[in-house]
Amino acid sequence: MTQTIHGLLYIKSKCIRQTAQREAPYDVWILVTEEGSIETAGCQCIGDDGGCKHVVALLLSVANFKSSINTQEQVQDQKTCTDILCTWNKPRKCNKSKRVIDIERSPVL
Ligand SMILES: [Zn+2]
Repeated sequence: MTQTIHGLLYIKSKCIRQTAQREAPYDVWILVTEEGSIETAGCQCIGDDGGCKHVVALLLSVANFKSSINTQEQVQDQKTCTDILCTWNKPRKCNKSKRVIDIERSPVL
């Protein structure tokens, strides 16, 4: 979930607990400026002192999501291999067949 307030982007997510996976996931959030700087972050876990592994996981997920969008844009801009004419199978020079008259007799040994 994302929300923009006064030029700040609020990103909230759920993070599954590593050891007690049956319990409710932690609520994790980050506040990012429009330029991409992290203003603050937080987590619901007991070890949250401003930077727990759950916040790091959210930051890595956002970074991974951003790079996957860039990759998708690059893929859309690129031509597929079938869009380009075959260049590796072209002969290097044109081989004209010789006429029988033009072929010199090789000496018989
Ligand atoms: Zn946490």
